[in-house]
Amino acid sequence: MLDFRLESELEALRGRAAAVAAEGIAEHGVHTDSWINGYSKDFSRRLAAEGWIGMTWPVEHGGGGRSNIERIIMGEEMISAGAPIAASWFADRQMGPSLIKYGTPDQQAEYLPGMLSGETTWCIGMSEPDAGSDLASLKTSAIKEGDVYVVNGQKIWTSFAADADYIYLICRTTTEGPPHRGVSELIVPMDLPGIEVRPIKDMTTNQHFCEVFFTDVRVPVENLVGVEGAAFKQTMTQLEHERGGIDRLVSNKPLYEQAIAAADTSDPLVRQEIAKLETGYRLGRILVYREALKQAPAGFSAATKCFCTEHQQRVADFAASVLGLAALNQDQATRFIAYAPAYTIMGGTSNVMRNILGERVLGLPREPR
Ligand SMILES: Cc1cc2nc3c(=O)[nH]c(=O)nc-3n(C[C@H](O)[C@H](O)[C@H](O)COP(=O)(O)OP(=O)(O)OC[C@H]3O[C@@H](n4cnc5c(N)ncnc54)[C@H](O)[C@@H]3O)c2cc1C
Repeated sequence: MLDFRLESELEALRGRAAAVAAEGIAEHGVHTDSWINGYSKDFSRRLAAEGWIGMTWPVEHGGGGRSNIERIIMGEEMISAGAPIAASWFADRQMGPSLIKYGTPDQQAEYLPGMLSGETTWCIGMSEPDAGSDLASLKTSAIKEGDVYVVNGQKIWTSFAADADYIYLICRTTTEGPPHRGVSELIVPMDLPGIEVRPIKDMTTNQHFCEVFFTDVRVPVENLVGVEGAAFKQTMTQLEHERGGIDRLVSNKPLYEQAIAAADTSDPLVRQEIAKLETGYRLGRILVYREALKQAPAGFSAATKCFCTEHQQRVADFAASVLGLAALNQDQATRFIAYAPAYTIMGGTSNVMRNILGERVLGLPREPR
C-alpha cells in the first residue's frame, strides 16, 4: 500500500499556512488568482516574517534552504484561499532564483535582501506587441554607450509594472546573428527617467498588467544579468520556474469551493463532473510534485502547465454551469469565470506548450520554419 499522507512537520506547515492565509483574507479579502491579482505589500512582509519568501533559496543567499515541497504546501494554502501574495510572488518564484544562478555577487547583495523582506516588487518584461510566443523576435533594444545601456522600445502585458520597483527586462543588445542570439537580461529600476507605464484594465476589471514604454532609458552596465547577448537560455530557465508550479493548479480553488456548495449533488451528471475535477486536482498535484522533486523529464513543465491550466478552465466551466444566472451577477464568481481564458495564455499558450512537449520531450519532428 502506498501511503500518500504527508509527514507531520509538513502537515504542521500546512496548518500554519492556512492560518496565516485566513488572516490575510480577513484583512485584504479573497482575490481571484491571488498570486497575480492579490497585491499587498503588507501581506508580503507578513510572509517574509514567516520565512516564506525565498524559503527554497540557498541559506548562503539569505533563503530558507527548505524543500520545494514545503514551498508548494505554503503556496497551495495561500492561493487556494485567495490570500494576496502577488507583491512578492514573481521575485520568489523567478527573479530571485535567476539572480542566484546568473547574477553577480554585487547584484545578489543589492537585490536579494529586498526580495526576501517583501519590500521590493519585481515585474517581468518579456512580451511585446509583436513578440509573445515567439520571444526571439523581441525588438526592445539596449545599446551600450560607455557605462550605460540605452534602452528603447515597448513591453506589454507586464503584470505589476505600475507598482513594481524593478523590471527584469529581456531586451536585444545586438541585431547581428540569429534572433535568439543577442538577447540579454537587464535589471531596470522603474523610477529611471524615460519609463512610462500605462495600466491596462481587463474585462474582469483587474488592472495588474500594463504597457511599458522605454525612451532613451539609461541603465548602468553593471545591471546586466549573466552574459551579454547569450541570455536566451537564461530566460528559458526562468520560464521553467514559471510553468510547473502549484499556482497553475489551484488559482481558482475559491470558485470551486463556491460551486461545490451550490451544486445539486443529487444529480448524477453533477456528481460525475465533481469526480472528474477531484481527479484532475489529484493528477495535477502529482505533476507539480514531480516537478518539485525533479522527477519530471527536462521540458516537462510545459505539459504540467498545460494540464493544470486546462483543469482550471474546466473548474470555471463547471462553476458557470452550476451557478447558472448567479454566475453573471456575483462579483467574485463572475470575475473568476471571466478570467479563465487567461490561464492558457499567460506563461506560454497551450499550443506552444504542446509544441515544446512534442519537440523537446517526445522528440517528434520539428515544424519546418
Ligand atoms: C494574465 C496575463 C498576465 C501576463 N503577464 C505577463 C508578464 O508579467 N510579463 C510578460 O512579459 N508577459 C505577460 N503576459 C503575456 C503572455 O506571456 C503572452 O500573452 C503569451 O506568451 C502569448 O503571447 P501573445 O499574447 O503575443 O500571443 P501570440 O504569440 O501572438 O499567439 C496568438 C495565438 O497563436 C498561437 N501560436 C503562436 N505561435 C504558435 C506556434 N508556434 N504554434 C502553434 N500556435 C501558435 C498561440 O497559441 C495563440 O493562440 C501575460 C499574459 C496574460 C494573459
